[in-house]
Amino acid sequence: MTGKSTHRIGRRAFLKGAAAVAAGSALGASFRADAESVFPPGRYVDIHTHLGQRWGFREILTVEKLLKWMDENDIAQAAVLPLISPEAWDHPLSTDYVLRETEPHRDRLFPFCSIDPRTLLLGGYAKKRDLLLKYKEAGAKGFGEHKPGVAIDDPRNIELFQASAEVGLPILFHLDNDRNMDQPGLPGLEKVLKEVPNGIFIGHANGFWASISGGITQADLSAYPKTPVQPGGALDRLMDAYPNLYGDLSAGSGSNAIERDLAFGREFIVRRADRLLFGTDYLAPAQQVMQLALYRTLDLPEAVQAKVFRDNARRLLGLL
Ligand SMILES: [Zn+2]
Repeated sequence: MTGKSTHRIGRRAFLKGAAAVAAGSALGASFRADAESVFPPGRYVDIHTHLGQRWGFREILTVEKLLKWMDENDIAQAAVLPLISPEAWDHPLSTDYVLRETEPHRDRLFPFCSIDPRTLLLGGYAKKRDLLLKYKEAGAKGFGEHKPGVAIDDPRNIELFQASAEVGLPILFHLDNDRNMDQPGLPGLEKVLKEVPNGIFIGHANGFWASISGGITQADLSAYPKTPVQPGGALDRLMDAYPNLYGDLSAGSGSNAIERDLAFGREFIVRRADRLLFGTDYLAPAQQVMQLALYRTLDLPEAVQAKVFRDNARRLLGLL
């Protein structure tokens, strides 16, 4: 890209960091301790929530209700994700709505932004990148939930991922047999990881999480497999090979991946503590969220909890 906008963003981030360092050293505290002390209290950062808009069939999750639910469940901060593709939801949850509703609460709510890769009037790399830059300057911290009905390695997806990487927005994607489609072993996702090595990819949904196990079928990529995990899962293979692949533990797919074989699941979380992010996919009032009970029972080491529950998300979103 032309360096101008990137330079502006980089300089702003630098100045913010420099000010924090100065404040920390003036108080005799380390930068890290100083940074942590400014976060709202709470055990979790939730990488995956949605607000409701009034057009939906479910009771609306307003920003006030989301914040109240976060308070009740020890959730300090949450990413709020738009859903704009026709395959994603029953009506578009627009980026504009997410930016506007979260604006008075940016200490706790991080808006993401989204573009459908098939948008005709955003043909070409530069237009996609420039829109992403505008979203970032309006406060967007990430790209997603990316949930379009195209193959994960569709060239239009790859162009969008390259633009997100250049702008510095982590990409949270939904993968199953209808959205960002792939095959057992996730060869399409591997192609993406190879072609966009500077992108941060956060995987979500049935197809991603079914791939914690080897020996899976195409149908498993849209299912909630209950059988014990078999060796040779694509997730371990890809996480070993690509340092830019992360996992979003939200939704029924994320909790099922851990619960289907609890011994493997717990060990996976400990082993991949640098790559996993707590999340719920909370999107409607009174929704049951499996993660809250699950992570109370797993008895994870304190250092693993700190990474998975809070620090990985803050680091990826540029807050640490
Ligand atoms: Zn979602």
